[in-house]
Formats: sequence, structure tokens, C-alpha cells
Amino acid sequence: MLKSLELSGFKSFAKKTELHFKSQVTAIVGPNGSGKSNIAEAFRFVLGEQSMKSLRSKRGEDLIWNGSTEMSRSNRAKVKLVFDNSKNIFDLDFNEIIIKRAVNRDGSNEYYLNNSLIRLKDVIELLSKAHIGASGHHIISQGEADKILSSSVKERKEMIEDALGLKIYQYKREESQRKLLKTEENIKQVNSLRREIAPHIRFLKKQVEKVERAEDLRLKLSKFYREYLKMEKIYLEKQKKEILEKKKPTLEKLEKLEKEMEEVKRILDASSKKDEKSEELIEIENKIKNERESKDNFYREVGKIEGELNVNERNIEKIKAEEKSEESKTILLKEVEELEREISGFSEVIKIVEKIRDFITKHKFNFDNKKLEELMEINKDLERNRKEMEEKIKNIDIVLNELSSKYNIIKSSIEKEKDSNREAEKNIFKISSEQSEFRAKLESLKEKERRLNIEEEDWKREIQEGGVLLGTAIIGFENEELRLSSQDFSTGLTEPREKQEERRRELEKMKIRLEELGGGGGEEVMKEYKETVERDEFLSKELEDLEKSAKSLEILIKELLEKLDIEFTQGIEKINKTFQEFFSLMFGGGEARLEVVKKEKRKVKNKEEEENLAAEILPSGEISASEMSEEGIDISVSLPRKRIKGLEMLSGGERALTSIALLFAISQVNPPPFIILDETDAALDEANSKKYGEMIESLSKVSQLILITHNRETMSRANVIYGVTMSNDSISNLLSIEFNEAVTVAK
Ligand code: ATP
Repeated sequence: MLKSLELSGFKSFAKKTELHFKSQVTAIVGPNGSGKSNIAEAFRFVLGEQSMKSLRSKRGEDLIWNGSTEMSRSNRAKVKLVFDNSKNIFDLDFNEIIIKRAVNRDGSNEYYLNNSLIRLKDVIELLSKAHIGASGHHIISQGEADKILSSSVKERKEMIEDALGLKIYQYKREESQRKLLKTEENIKQVNSLRREIAPHIRFLKKQVEKVERAEDLRLKLSKFYREYLKMEKIYLEKQKKEILEKKKPTLEKLEKLEKEMEEVKRILDASSKKDEKSEELIEIENKIKNERESKDNFYREVGKIEGELNVNERNIEKIKAEEKSEESKTILLKEVEELEREISGFSEVIKIVEKIRDFITKHKFNFDNKKLEELMEINKDLERNRKEMEEKIKNIDIVLNELSSKYNIIKSSIEKEKDSNREAEKNIFKISSEQSEFRAKLESLKEKERRLNIEEEDWKREIQEGGVLLGTAIIGFENEELRLSSQDFSTGLTEPREKQEERRRELEKMKIRLEELGGGGGEEVMKEYKETVERDEFLSKELEDLEKSAKSLEILIKELLEKLDIEFTQGIEKINKTFQEFFSLMFGGGEARLEVVKKEKRKVKNKEEEENLAAEILPSGEISASEMSEEGIDISVSLPRKRIKGLEMLSGGERALTSIALLFAISQVNPPPFIILDETDAALDEANSKKYGEMIESLSKVSQLILITHNRETMSRANVIYGVTMSNDSISNLLSIEFNEAVTVAK
């Protein structure tokens, strides 16, 4: 149920103007050009009309009050339509439904439902459910009544579909078809994307396989490397230990031999002093001989002294005996001669006498004593000499003793040395042969050590190389669990060195293979591969989804077509029934009916049609029936009492009546909440105006009517009449008027 229409800034309605539709039939009257049709267009506009032609405009801007001398132009045209929804004609839980549309000078539009911004699509859907199609079959504009007759079978079909409320299905079908087309396009796109990606994936896959092989190899190599390094470490340590163990006793032995050699040499050196000793011996022998000779000499001396002593003793005895008898005293001639010499020199006799006296005295008393004393003195000396000699002999004996014992010692030592020399000579050969044996041993150990050092250097280099090649993967190789022969190693057993050599060769081979596979960029490739595969999977998933939705769209379209087909056929049946009734009412008999026709499609007339056709190409690629043949509605009429068949032969009035009969019949099947008829009655004569009026009466039972008319008969059927006027200000004005004023106002 329509409640009101409000226009502001819309076309000639510069000021806010509100129409209330309190009754079933409202008439709008007024002079030409006052703005009545603008009201019908305001309905179209607010209901979402998109065709500018239908709104008698070129652009959205043309709909906005353009200003006059009295009032400046508006920036925006607004139309608000209010429905009473208490009977739930709209499937919404509101008592009142307010639809509003506004257009701005830039041509942009806004749609509101109960003051909430909505999309055009929502407006159309909402209205379709209430049988208020946008195509406006219920809004018959001026001169448009004939449209249903003059349009093509196809257009007619569309109008009828709309009137039957099938537009919503049609709309859905088109939308689904559009979606399907879009989906098909997407499928194609996704497929082509996948086709584009495929070779890249294949390429990346190969790369990834290579990277994986390299990674595998790297892992194997790391493990193998660690094992190798550990094995080598064990080997080196073991070898070192072994060499050390062997070297130590060898060195000790050599040291011992050296000492022994020194000792032997010392002995032999000492033996070279043997001659010295012999010489010493000879020397001692000579010394003994000399000493003995001295001793003999001393003995002889002693004997001589003893002989002298004996003589002197005897003389002393003699002298002693002479002492006892003076007479027997003897004077030595020599002494007398001496005396004579003494006195011969004297001149005085006395003195001489005295001298002789002295001589006698002397000889008488002193002569013997002197001799004795001399002798005794000599003896004393001799005695002393003898003692001295004896002492010397004694000393010589001591020396001789010493020499003799020294001689013996030397002699026995010489003897002894002779023995040890023989022993030493024997040893020196033994020791030197042993020395060369152990030196050779030491040399071989040193050689081994040298080789081992080289091996150790190699091993260290391997560690470095491994680090460069495998990074941290070889760290901690010392703790590597050995898969093989670890037991052997730990128990001190060794495997043949060749095994490790083999391992080393294998290691080198693996290194080369790894280098061939190329180490770098692995992560990048993996990442890219993963991303690309993910993308492909995503696309494949999307494809699946798209195919699913294409499938369901196809099903939906099929169902919609079926539904359309059924409802359309049923709708046509119903229309025909009412059409026949109205037609015979109008013409007092005759026949009229709609016929569904399938015309062979001949030629695409224009671009618009071409596009319509394109939309009907099924997703499967098949060509829909509508391209092959055009389904449409034909009208067959036959007037009573006249041999007239076919619309072409009808008069203007007859055409008007036929079209009105058809429009009303259509409206009766699925009655819209309101119908607007803009001077549909213009061509009718008085008699027909009456019949028209009757039809309006019966139509108003199912739909609210808004009649724009100059026809008095029509005005008389209205409960409310609005008069539209336009003064010099070019602004349309609205006033509610009584029937008797209406005719005047309408002029
Ligand atoms: P008739 O009885 O001859 O059919 P009508 O009452 O239906 O006439 P309309 O066609 O509704 O008259 O009104 C046309 C008038 O509206 C014209 O005078 C035209 O200048 C005016 N008009 C149309 N668009 C605008 C606009 N954007 N701004 C101002 N006036 C406009």
C-alpha cells in the first residue's frame, strides 16, 4: 500500500512536495507542461530506473532542478517513497518501508532503505518480491500503453515476465550466468596460470631434487667425514703412543750403551797409559839401584871412618901411654927444624935460649896432649860422620822400602790392566754393534714419527677443509659414534691402514660429487619451490572451488530456467484468461490471446542484442536455445463482427483498448501494489472512456491506482485528486482539489 511520495529538487519540483495516497484511486490533473509526468518519473526514479531515456533525460544531472529566475538550481534531486508494510507486502519486519533515491550533479546515486544506505541491487530485489519491477510494467507513461503492442515478441516477453514477477528469477539467472561466465574466465585464468607455473615447478623440482641430493650427500659426507676424522685421530694417537712407547726404551738402551761405550773407552784409554807405568816402573827400578849404590857408598864411608877411628884410637892409646913416661917423649924432627928456622933469625942468644927453653917446656908438658886432643877431636868428627852416614843409610832404607812397595803396586796394576783391556776390547765390538742396531731402530722410529707428522698435518688440513665444505657439521667429530671397528680401536686392535685409505678415497669422491651438485642457494631454491608449489596447490584448490561453484551455478541456472519456464507458462495461461475477459468486455466479444512463439534467429540486429546473446552462451560452451531461436510472445486478436485479425489492422482507439485490456489482464495475474497510468486514456472516445473507467474500477480492487489524466470520466473514478500547476517561476506546485474543480485545473 502506497502511503506517500516526496519530491525535492526533482525536475520541476524545486521545492519539497509531498503526495499522499490515502485511497485506492488517486488522480493527478493539470495543464500541459505543469509537471504531472515528472511525478510518474519520480516513481520510476525512486524505484531504481536506470534508463535515462525512460526518465526523459540524458544524464543524471538532468533530473535535478535546474533553477529559474525565481529560484537557483539544486545540487541534488531526492525522491522518497513510503509504503505501508503492515500487510507485509515487503518481506521485511517493518511497518513502514521508506525507499529513497538521490542523484547528485556528478551523476552519482544513493539508495536508502529506511534511511540506511543500500545498493541498487538490494532495491531491485526488494521491489521484485513485491511485484514492483524496475521495468515499470505497472507504470505506463504517456503514449506507452501502445508499447505492449508495438514491442517485439522478445521485449513483450520480458515485460510479461516482469509483470509475472519472474524478473527476479531472470535477474538471478542472468546474475548466475554472469557469475558463471566470470567463473569460467577465472577457471581459464587459473588453468593458464597453472600451465605457466608448471614448467617452473618442474624446473624447481629438479633443482630441489638436486639440492636434496646435495643435502643427503652432505649429511652422509658429514657423518662419513666425522668418522674418518675420528678414525684418523685414533690412528694417529695410537701410532704416536706406540712410537713413544718404543722410542723410550730404545733411547734408554742407547743411553746405556753410550755409557757402556764410554766406560770401555775409558778402560782402553787407561791401557794406553800402560807404558807410562812401565816407564815409571823402570824409573823406580833406577831409583832403587841409585839408592842402593848410595847406601853402599855410605857403608864404605862408614868402613873408612871406622878404620880411621881405629887408627886414631890406637894412637890415642899410644899417646896416653907416652904420657905416663916423659923420657920417652918424642919430638918430631919437623918441629925441631921449625924451631931452628925460628931461632936462626935471632941475633940475641938469650932470646934464644929463652926460645929453646920454651921449646923444651912446651914439649915436656904440652907436646903429647896436643896430639891427643887433635886425635880425639878428629875422632869426634869421625864419629859424627859415621852417625851421619848411618842415618843416611837408614833413610835410604825407608826410601827403598817405599820404592819397592810402589813398584809392586804398579806392577800388579799393570798386570790387572792387561786383563781388563782384553775384556774391554771384546766389549767394544759388542756395544757398537748393539748401538748401530738400536740407532737403526731409533731412526726407523723417527722416520715413522716423521711420516706420522705428515699424516697429522694432512689430518689437520682435512679438518679445515671439512669446516669450509660442511661448516659446523664436522664439529665434535671426536664424539662421533663409530659404526665400524670402534670396538677394535678401543681395544687397541687396528684395522689395516688400507681401509682408512679406501675411506679417504671415498671421501674425496664424495667431496667432488658434492661440489658437482653445487652447494649454494639451496635454501632459496627450496623456499621458491615451496612457495611455487603452495601457489600451485592454492590455484588447484581454487580451481576445484571454481569448478564446484561453476557446477552449482549451472545447476542453479538450470533450476531457474525450469522454474521460469513453468511459471511463465502458467502465468501466460492466467493472463490469457483475464485478457480474453477484458477484451470481450471492451469489444463486446471477439478473441484475444497471447501465444508463445519461437522464432528462428536470423540476424543479430545491433550491438545490444549481440551482448544479450553472448550472455546466453552456456558455460559448457554449448549455444543456448535462445540463440538458435528467439522465444517471444505474440498477440492474436480477432474483433467481433469484423474480419480483423492481427494488431496491424486495428484503429488507434482499438489499439488503445486492446493494449489497456492486455495491461490490465497482466496486472490482474500478479497484482502490483500500485499502477500508474499516465494519460493511457488519451485516445478514447466517450463510450470507450466509460468502459475504461469500469476496468479501472475493477483493477482498483487489487492495486492502488494513480491516474494522470485529462479525462473527465477517469477523474470521476478517483477518490483523491491532485492538481499540478506551474506559474511563471517554472516551479511545479501541488494542490489537493475537489472533483468539480479538477476539470478547471486540468485546463
Ligand atoms: P503534459 O500534460 O503536456 O503531458 P505534464 O504536466 O505531464 O504535461 P511534464 O512533462 O511532467 O508536464 O513537465 C515538463 C516540465 O518539467 C517542463 O516544463 C520542463 O521544463 C520541466 N522540467 C523538466 N526537467 C526539469 C528540470 N530539471 N528543472 C526544471 N524544470 C524541469
